Amino acid sequence: MIGSGPNGLAAAVTMARAGWEVTVHEAADTVGGGVRSEELTLPEFVHDVCSAIHPLGRDSPFFRDLELPIDWVQPEAPAAHPLDDGTAVVTERSFPATAEGVGEDRDAYLRLFGRVVSRWSDFEPVVLGPFLPRPNRLLHAVDLSVTRAGLSSATGLAKRFRSDQARALLGGHAAHSMLPLEMRPSGGIGLFLVATAHVFGWGFPRGGAQQLADALAERLEELGGEIRTGSAVNELPRADAVLADVVPRELLRIAGDKLPAHYAHALRRYRHGPGVFKLDWALDGPIPWTARDCGRAATVHVGGTFEEIAESERSPGGERPFVLLTQPSLFDDSRAPSGKHTAWAYCHVPLGSTEDMTGRIEAQVERFAPGFRDLILARHASGPADLELRNRNIVGGDINGGTMDLRQLFFRPVRKLVPYRTPLDGLYLCSSSTPPGGGVHGMCGYSAALTVLKDAG
Ligand SMILES: Cc1cc2nc3c(=O)[nH]c(=O)nc-3n(C[C@H](O)[C@H](O)[C@H](O)COP(=O)(O)OP(=O)(O)OC[C@H]3O[C@@H](n4cnc5c(N)ncnc54)[C@H](O)[C@@H]3O)c2cc1C
Repeated sequence: MIGSGPNGLAAAVTMARAGWEVTVHEAADTVGGGVRSEELTLPEFVHDVCSAIHPLGRDSPFFRDLELPIDWVQPEAPAAHPLDDGTAVVTERSFPATAEGVGEDRDAYLRLFGRVVSRWSDFEPVVLGPFLPRPNRLLHAVDLSVTRAGLSSATGLAKRFRSDQARALLGGHAAHSMLPLEMRPSGGIGLFLVATAHVFGWGFPRGGAQQLADALAERLEELGGEIRTGSAVNELPRADAVLADVVPRELLRIAGDKLPAHYAHALRRYRHGPGVFKLDWALDGPIPWTARDCGRAATVHVGGTFEEIAESERSPGGERPFVLLTQPSLFDDSRAPSGKHTAWAYCHVPLGSTEDMTGRIEAQVERFAPGFRDLILARHASGPADLELRNRNIVGGDINGGTMDLRQLFFRPVRKLVPYRTPLDGLYLCSSSTPPGGGVHGMCGYSAALTVLKDAG
């Protein structure tokens, strides 16, 4: 295994469970890739270096089966979205309660999300896998109205709503796609995220994201696997199978001279972007949201109306960025000293941007939580280059391992029915640059490992 992100560890655990001898080489000094926690600001303030909220960290098909010993925190509401009138629209755990919260769009909300929520188990294999070529299973899940919505842009889906509340709620979730909201399938990705909020809730591990990585690593070691940290791989290791939890650029660096020209060419054409600029704060108290409902959610979408979010995502790095904020210590008192808090926030920026977005991110939070700036005890800023320095998979600040537009959503990193296989015998890709893409679900690693096991007979 090259790399110990959630996909690398998922692949390693799957191989070890099947009886293989597994060694994981991780370039960083700690395991976890995008699932790590550190005291980034002050002693006793535990921050998530990358991912913080894990809707699928317990409930993806891979994690569900594993039943890791983790204390999952379930905030009362998955997400809140403050508006300038001092109210907030809330994505509640309850599907009907959320629909009630969008007033005149109640019925439209129930219509748009109802089929996905009620038939989640049919759609889950299509969007998450495991992806092995079994088309009959896909046929079972065909539902024209959901397929059409799933492939839509957010601007297309927003036409179904009239209220600022419903449109903002949709825009906030769709912006996780890191696509312009006019581009497909930004709406589908928003639809999928809203469904996970209702079906599973947006939980996270008590104590921080690192708990999840450590639990995976422990499970691997119990199964006889070995992990070597501080062990950057620069050329292909000798093994019966090599699974690479790396982006195409890194695979080219490690194995480029051995890959057939057509495949290397396709990998070079793989696209990234945009990037993110992230802030971590140690705070003297909870964020003083004008809309009190924001205190019921660990994730807050900060950016105002659908139109404002669309403008921000169309040209990332602008004056009024859409900000994704998490405030885990409101629900997990192990994250900061008594009475103090942690929060992180990021906004999208052009790939590789060197712009300092600190002032613009904090101004957006202050807009909906006056007095916020006075609570900052310390901050830690990470631009695209800092993120990439810690983890070479975060190319130019791209946290999804590659753009997730229609072309690269399922056919990543190349157009192949089984994209985990490379043309080199025994070499497989298993990072978020393979389906189903970014996020902490382990499904890229799980699907890649199942492919190896199938190939090995
Ligand atoms: C700031 C930020 C916030 C995020 N927020 C969320 C969130 O809240 N929820 C969510 O679900 N997802 C979130 N994500 C996305 C999530 O972290 C990633 O999608 C996920 O970690 C991808 O997993 P992976 O295993 O494919 O790769 P990674 O987690 O990136 O792991 C790859 C590992 O491989 C190692 N590696 C690379 N090359 C080599 C080499 N040559 N030799 C040895 N080791 C190597 C790297 O050091 C790294 O540890 C966030 C990401 C970031 C950066």
